[in-house]
Amino acid sequence: MDFAFSEDQKSLRTWVIGFAQKELNENVPQRDRDQTFLRELWKKCGNAGIQGLPIPEEYGGSGLDPLSTVIALEALGYGCHDGGLVFSIGAHMFSCMVPIWKFGTEEQKRRYLPGLCDGTLIAVHGMSEPGSGSDAFAMRTRAEPDGQGFRLNGTKTFASNGPVADLALVFALTDPDQGYYGGVTAFLVEKGPGGFRVGQKFEKMGLRTSPMSELVLEDVYVGPEAVLGGVGGGATVFGHGMDWERIGIFASHVGTMERLLERAIGYARERSQYGQRIGKFQAISHRIADMKVQLEAARLLIYRAAWQLDRERHVSMDASIAKLFVSESLIKAALDTIQIFGGYGYMVEYEVERALRDALASTIYSGTSEIQRNIIARWLGL
Ligand SMILES: Cc1cc2nc3c(=O)[nH]c(=O)nc-3n(C[C@H](O)[C@H](O)[C@H](O)COP(=O)(O)OP(=O)(O)OC[C@H]3O[C@@H](n4cnc5c(N)ncnc54)[C@H](O)[C@@H]3O)c2cc1C
Repeated sequence: MDFAFSEDQKSLRTWVIGFAQKELNENVPQRDRDQTFLRELWKKCGNAGIQGLPIPEEYGGSGLDPLSTVIALEALGYGCHDGGLVFSIGAHMFSCMVPIWKFGTEEQKRRYLPGLCDGTLIAVHGMSEPGSGSDAFAMRTRAEPDGQGFRLNGTKTFASNGPVADLALVFALTDPDQGYYGGVTAFLVEKGPGGFRVGQKFEKMGLRTSPMSELVLEDVYVGPEAVLGGVGGGATVFGHGMDWERIGIFASHVGTMERLLERAIGYARERSQYGQRIGKFQAISHRIADMKVQLEAARLLIYRAAWQLDRERHVSMDASIAKLFVSESLIKAALDTIQIFGGYGYMVEYEVERALRDALASTIYSGTSEIQRNIIARWLGL
């Protein structure tokens, strides 16, 4: 077992951190307040090659292996202080681009991946519905056969990137009698007349620079070329995307945890009370030591799960373990940092409270903590 980064991985990490710190951090508190998503930053990331990291070069990406990809995502979460932007990029890459790359026809890959890689296009993943979240396959969206193709009707909710997306990967029932396996199909639907429409937009507690909305499908006709992964193959497409998302997006959270740890250490070294640095109080130093332990454990879980992505057939349990641990550790790291900062940590100006607001959703999206525990228990035969 080799825990060392290769020279390429080291320079990738350094480069992504430098890029993010230089290009992506201007006016983040203001952007957060105003819920501003900047397409120019998205394009900058695309031009720099971020979105295309794992995608093969022939489709406009860099063809990185999964472990190198998560090292880059971790670096992005560390260097970029805009948690919403990082989240939007992760959702686009792992729950939309990866399924197209893994399950798309040659024509679908050539049509969409280059634009999704270089930042020209933005993708949205439409699974959740008003009445079906954790129980995602209890969806109501239908795709009825119509000539050669299908007619889609339904509403998806909580769709990250929805208001700005050009392309939606949506799941619809094609055979209600078959249910989960065989009854659900993934479709690639473009925005615009004849395509999906943006419904209600949501204002969120955190991740405010990542726009979210409903996706409305009203009598949307798609040809057979819009089917991704075959008719009835929706569960496989969804499951594979979730495995990648639970590793890739949560890699960026490991980077955020490292940044929070550094802020906590910096503050504990600088702030004095009772005539000494607060870091000299064991109550503070032990809290920071625990943050370090959680960070290192989180990082190893993510690296191991990523390493398995192109080696093992089933990575769902390890992806769930990593997702569960990282999300709960991220929230704890944000709470610890606020506690160490005292009253200042509660003030917007110090940019710690935003990390907590951003972190809180991580135990909900990509499947809640309860659902991750259910998945792990199921793999354990329970
Ligand atoms: C910031 C954010 C971004 C998101 N982005 C997207 C996106 O891009 N695309 C998309 O499709 N969806 C997205 N979602 C939706 C997300 O996937 C759902 O919110 C999540 O799956 C939970 O569904 P729900 O909110 O309907 O909660 P519910 O499923 O109604 O759950 C409510 C509570 O019941 C618990 N619960 C439910 N079932 C069980 C069970 N079997 N055992 C134990 N406990 C259970 C849950 O854990 C939770 O605590 C996003 C959500 C958030 C917050």
